[in-house]
Amino acid sequence: MRIVLWLCLWLLLAGQKAAAEGLPDLGEAERSGLSVSAERRLGEKIMLEIRRDPDFVHDAEIADYVNQLGQRLASHLEEARTPFEFFVVRDPTLNAFALPGGFIGVHTGLILATRSESELAGVLAHEISHVTQSHLARMFGAQSQAQLASLLSLAVAILAARSNPDVAVGAALAGQAAGIQNQLNYSRDFEREADRFGLDLMERAGFDTRGMASFFQRLLQVGRLYENNAPAYLRTHPLTTERITDMENRIAQRPYRQAPDSVAFGLVRAKIKAYQGTPAEAVADFTAQLKSGKYAREADVRFGLAHALLREGRLAAAEEALAALRRLDCASPLVENLAAQIRLRRKDYAGAARILQDAARRYPEARALTYALIEAKLGAGDAAQTREAVEIARREIKLTPSDARLHELAARAHAALGERLRERRALAEAYYLEGRLDEAIIQLDLARQANDADFYELSEVDARLRELRQRKQELLRNERNGRGFP
Ligand SMILES: [Zn+2]
Repeated sequence: MRIVLWLCLWLLLAGQKAAAEGLPDLGEAERSGLSVSAERRLGEKIMLEIRRDPDFVHDAEIADYVNQLGQRLASHLEEARTPFEFFVVRDPTLNAFALPGGFIGVHTGLILATRSESELAGVLAHEISHVTQSHLARMFGAQSQAQLASLLSLAVAILAARSNPDVAVGAALAGQAAGIQNQLNYSRDFEREADRFGLDLMERAGFDTRGMASFFQRLLQVGRLYENNAPAYLRTHPLTTERITDMENRIAQRPYRQAPDSVAFGLVRAKIKAYQGTPAEAVADFTAQLKSGKYAREADVRFGLAHALLREGRLAAAEEALAALRRLDCASPLVENLAAQIRLRRKDYAGAARILQDAARRYPEARALTYALIEAKLGAGDAAQTREAVEIARREIKLTPSDARLHELAARAHAALGERLRERRALAEAYYLEGRLDEAIIQLDLARQANDADFYELSEVDARLRELRQRKQELLRNERNGRGFP
């Protein structure tokens, strides 16, 4: 059920036009119908729902790793028409998918099934190519705005049903999606094109192009083993021996290149595994792996074990695993954050803050370290530390104003200081960034009523409230005019 719900989005949007119009001409690079900006808005609207899904992975370390890997590929595109955003969904099935507007999702199951970073890069490069070759836009280009709007509401309803499969609408929609699924063979030409462009992109970004063929080859084998339960990816991306031979021929023509995995690749996979199943199962898995000696890198197994032990609340054992990991000389912001998380769990806030401050200097890009540092300052509980938490959040918000998590942490710090207007105002920004406009407006209203700030701040709240109300009016107007997505 879950598989069907996910894959349907692509198919739902892609399949309808394909059925109606036959195959779009692949030589025709021009897009028709759906503009780049309309496609982006459509994608953003779908993302609002996806981000609320309980299985959307908010973990900054996992999310950032996959996003950075994707951005590394995207930065080698000759012409970037659309910004890309890569995200992870907690789901054991093997799947990855491109949504309209450059949003690309990967299941944790697929990340765990890859054996090298180049294999994962191969899947992302293939998805990126579906977007840059405008496969989605070309398929639903001829739809009217009204048709698109109804397709979109269907897609959003299916996504909503995903986290709540009991709702009656789920079964009906899944049936519809399954019908569309049968039109898969229409997209074989798109698949070949995505392979070809994806391989070029991998090469330009410095990955081992053989990774794409080896991963798809393995997928095909798995698909044969489980005929009726083939990986979801195979259903959205029809794969044939011929396609793989085609890929291998192209790879053989290229110079051989080795691309060693980054440290983060192994650690992120271990972290995903550490948070699967029950904590005890995860601990047992890593322990058995250590004993058997069957692993690519010992540091990854020690790292996973320490996380699993932390999750189980066995802090002394987690510290031992961390110490063993440190002896392996594995330098990464993920290791520093793990050390800090163990301290935080021990309520050693000063110790955690020391590790994090030092690590943040070495790894200024690592968002997770900043979040943890603010948590450590908040955990300490005294006013001076809480004010420091506010300062750090403010400084970081200036650098990345669109980071909802920072606004949320700022709200918590203001709440701890009893600053109600500031708390509500920060919460409003967090909600706004998450696409929860109505809730943002409510918070700003509450901020005005808080009555604990000066005239200057109050007028800032008023100005923001006017802005958001205006935005809300625009949205309503667009909906009345039949433009399902503003
Ligand atoms: Zn594909």
